[in-house]
Amino acid sequence: MIRLGVIFGGRSGEHEISLMSATSVIKAIDKNKFLPVFIGITREGKWLLYDGPVEHIEDGGWQKLAEEALATDPEKYGITVLGAQKSLKDWIDFALPVLHGPYGEDGTIQGLFEMADIPYGGCGVLGSAAAMDKSLAKEVFAKKELPICRHLSLYKEELDENFDRVIGRVEKYLPYPIFVKPANMGSSVGISKAKNREELTAALELAMKYDRRLILEEGLDCREIETGVLGNYRPEAAAVGEILPSAEFYSYEAKYFDGGMSKICIPADLPDEVTKEVREIAVEAYRLLDCCGFARVDFFLERGTNKVYINEINTIPGFTKYSMFPLLWAEKGLPYPELIEKIIQLGFERYEDRK
Ligand code: ADP
Ligand code: MG
Ligand code: MG
Repeated sequence: MIRLGVIFGGRSGEHEISLMSATSVIKAIDKNKFLPVFIGITREGKWLLYDGPVEHIEDGGWQKLAEEALATDPEKYGITVLGAQKSLKDWIDFALPVLHGPYGEDGTIQGLFEMADIPYGGCGVLGSAAAMDKSLAKEVFAKKELPICRHLSLYKEELDENFDRVIGRVEKYLPYPIFVKPANMGSSVGISKAKNREELTAALELAMKYDRRLILEEGLDCREIETGVLGNYRPEAAAVGEILPSAEFYSYEAKYFDGGMSKICIPADLPDEVTKEVREIAVEAYRLLDCCGFARVDFFLERGTNKVYINEINTIPGFTKYSMFPLLWAEKGLPYPELIEKIIQLGFERYEDRK
């Protein structure tokens, strides 16, 4: 039996989403092959071992139960993160971080697993960090002439020094509407679409609450197209799907709280050559950022011209049974439980290769 550490929660704005993804993963894994070990990370960053009911992961009840267990038996339930070599390895044989956003999807926890010599699922340190930073990823894509939209990277100190001058520069370079994003985030947290200078000012202030690195982009009139990539050195792309957002753009609310009004369409209704282009660019981008294991690669398809733009790579995409990434692989004939096993197998393979 492989002791599979499912790591959920985390210190990011996407804590709740992680609880949903992790619950789905735990329910689906083959219990004859894997012994799931639940490791929850609180919003404050405390690591807790949890062996209560799976149902209390999603509703957040796990935290109190895990804290009570720890208080009664610290020997049994204590996990040390520092000095992880001994302690984490005592608990698990493989780590599956089902975390989204900073401190989970960004290479930090992957670094911890590397240090602790624990094989893990998904991208390594570089791939995770590079894909998490939208500014850096766009520069790398640009170097290889992958199609990206017009954009401008800024950092907080520039704005602090001379806000008006920066605004002037932005307006000269980018037409409204302008998307303003924290470079390191996900789930649309901190993102706004600004249609004029006043909205741009507010959008910059909001984005700066999340990151000192920002990216501003020309707002495209577009369809949202996504594909999944799976593999280490010979990655392959899944089917191509489309998101039909319930709001003006695919905001945090549209993603998770709009009563399921945002729709997923698989396969996306696209000309064959567009589907082919999307899948090819996805694999190339994945390799460029040194991704491995799996990732979801997101695109914009401009209305009217049908021009394809790569937007971002998500190295730990939403992972419930109804999320885009697993559905794209199910469409290709790889059902959800087998997809998880494949990710674990790829993690072990990479671990062996790097030894
Ligand atoms: P996140 O990592 O938070 O998902 P994205 O870059 O994907 O960040 O942006 C979130 C959403 O905002 C996208 O799914 C899309 O709806 C909208 N969006 C972002 N950038 C643009 C753009 N340049 N043009 C049009 N829509 C955009
Ligand atoms: Mg993202
Ligand atoms: Mg996105």
